[in-house]
Amino acid sequence: MKTIIAIPACHFESAYQICATTKARLVAAIRFAQAATSKDVIYVVSGDVPYYQGGTPLNHLMRSYLVERGVIADNILLGNGLGIADDSKNVVHEIAQQVQADKIIVVSSDWYLWAALPFWRLRAKTHNITLGVITVPGTGGWRTWLTYLAYGTIIRISFVFGLRMSLERALLHIQNKRRSGFQWNGCA
Ligand SMILES: [Zn+2]
Repeated sequence: MKTIIAIPACHFESAYQICATTKARLVAAIRFAQAATSKDVIYVVSGDVPYYQGGTPLNHLMRSYLVERGVIADNILLGNGLGIADDSKNVVHEIAQQVQADKIIVVSSDWYLWAALPFWRLRAKTHNITLGVITVPGTGGWRTWLTYLAYGTIIRISFVFGLRMSLERALLHIQNKRRSGFQWNGCA
């Protein structure tokens, strides 16, 4: 059985560069993998969005960043995901189909996890995979914090009141625009 380390993207610094938050998550993932007792680790980088239509998607840039730091390319999967609901849904589904894994560790910023963790928990449970989390502190400015605090609160309320699927559809509708170009500063 393999251990999966899932790293969601934050945003682009420029058309050909990932932002500091995304880099901090990748560095934390590498550190975890190096310290892990099992070396049978697969990285999944998700963020299937380009800076402009036809540009290199975030997840490809993330893979390059890992490879430059010594991770074997064969041990990196490209996950599809547009944002906080979609990342977990697609990544966990893809992993369940492609890899014999019993554990997923999500490596991300504290504010991202506040918002997205209910979705990751749900998907992991659906596929009977244990979920672990590594929190990356010190990323994101006040705008991002406020945005994700609000997202997380709405998401948690939607789970309690059975509105999760409607909310997911709404999020997907909003975030689907990212496919034709994603130039939002995701950690301002
Ligand atoms: Zn960012």
